[in-house]
Amino acid sequence: MAHKNGWHFFMNPGPTNIPDRILRAMDRATMDFTGAEFRAIADECFAGLQRVFKTTAPILGYASTGHGAWEAALVNLFSPGDKVLIVESGYFSVNWGLRAEAFGLLVETLPNDWRRCADPAKLEARLREDKGHHIKAVLAVHNETSTGVAHPIAAMRKAIDAAGHPALFCVDTISSLGSFDFRMDEWGVDVTVVGSQKGLMLPTGMAFTGVSAKAMAATAVAKLPRVYWDWRRLLGQSPQQGYWNGTVPVHFFYGLREALKLLEEEGLDNVFARHHRLAEATRRAVRTWRQNDGPEIFATDPSGQSDTVTAILMPDGHDADAMRQICLDKFNVSLGGGLGSLKGRLFRIGHLGDVNEAMVLGALGAIEISLELAGVPHGRGGVQAAMEYLTSEA
Ligand code: PLP
Repeated sequence: MAHKNGWHFFMNPGPTNIPDRILRAMDRATMDFTGAEFRAIADECFAGLQRVFKTTAPILGYASTGHGAWEAALVNLFSPGDKVLIVESGYFSVNWGLRAEAFGLLVETLPNDWRRCADPAKLEARLREDKGHHIKAVLAVHNETSTGVAHPIAAMRKAIDAAGHPALFCVDTISSLGSFDFRMDEWGVDVTVVGSQKGLMLPTGMAFTGVSAKAMAATAVAKLPRVYWDWRRLLGQSPQQGYWNGTVPVHFFYGLREALKLLEEEGLDNVFARHHRLAEATRRAVRTWRQNDGPEIFATDPSGQSDTVTAILMPDGHDADAMRQICLDKFNVSLGGGLGSLKGRLFRIGHLGDVNEAMVLGALGAIEISLELAGVPHGRGGVQAAMEYLTSEA
């Protein structure tokens, strides 16, 4: 393949760009994962993760992607035949539900238009109906990466409480944690699932779960078999093996320690503000492209427009993947595609993790040219609108 000049602009909504400081931190010799030196690094990492999750609950880790952490939540909490209610949000909520079904759980979906925020009132009404408390847990995705819609987790907690329902509340924060506000304890989340490769800016391959005392108690009665994922084993009986099953991927921890330092040096609130600024600049561009019946932001509720990913719906008859291919081939800019039933209908710009204004403007410029080259109708001046916003917010 011919050499492509300049930087590859990786603007997918995960995995994300890995900062040089993290790569350098991982470029280090292996150490004994049972020794005191490593134990200090691991302790520092788990304490740092608690600050990012905003919890005092234990955080457990696995060598896996987010799919593994999804599965861990299911096998630790439930028995075959248990009922769970999944709040529909898009491709990822559907897939968490499919995994629950595969383990013999009864999965009920709380229906929701993928373009809109889930409605806490509907959740409350459904839980009120469940007078026998057959629903063991509510499963929700905080930021639905496939649609670019952020869902109201704090309000969902209030809905569960208002219904007086004892269901566990399990939340996938895979594309929100460390990028915009999430508060595990304050929002009463029992199980928080995350992967390493998005807001934490690490390579793909580690996943973490925050587990409340209520969720930990549920593991004692849960009958689904589990060994590697077993939270009780992971909590650790032996001082040498606590936190992990098997060989610990020490290099990931070197990287994680640096990632947590980066987040804390910038300050979580500043990290969130940066994500919001870059997301809003992106939205300004797309709203301009929307003129002349051009592409539009998939998320229709302004309050749910995600600060980590913008999904952009193409006008009818125009193929998002053809436009993405032009963008990649001609400009070396990689974008996310539509997932599942949305394939070809939308493209996604990831503006999370280690990104800045110049990267977003560069990507928006390449997209604007690619829309033109692909013959997609659109309003001109999207990049200008993004620049004006960034100037006013500088
Ligand atoms: N949940 C959400 C919201 C995601 O965005 C993803 C991946 O992008 C997953 C779950 C699955 O995670 P993984 O690909 O790490 O298995």
